[in-house]
Amino acid sequence: MDVTCATCLEPWEWYHLRYDAIGECGLSEELVGQWDGILGPESNIPNAKELLEQQGYYFGANVSALLRCPCCHKKTKDSRRAAARRELVAMVGELLGDDSDGMASVMEDQDLNLGLGDDDDDEDDYDDDE
Ligand SMILES: [Zn+2]
Repeated sequence: MDVTCATCLEPWEWYHLRYDAIGECGLSEELVGQWDGILGPESNIPNAKELLEQQGYYFGANVSALLRCPCCHKKTKDSRRAAARRELVAMVGELLGDDSDGMASVMEDQDLNLGLGDDDDDEDDYDDDE
């Protein structure tokens, strides 16, 4: 199951975001293995969200609400569509709270990230068939 970065549309394995990314943050293996996956003060790693941001992962309410990722800086411009996608993903994340697994399923089933289109035709939303 993939989670798509709302900004650059890079696909990420949900498993990586939930279980592996926290391992890039310099924590002990034991703590990494015990992480409850919650991004908030009630988590057993209360600063998990900040630690992940230092690695380039910016999340909304859960790890399936991926707003920016480590690939974003390698890609070109930010755009209005990327901003709209971040807003949508953050909103869905707020609705589903800590349920990152459920959110990943919803996003994948509904193709919500990609539903707003890619950024190639950002300045021209209309077909020009002439
Ligand atoms: Zn990205």
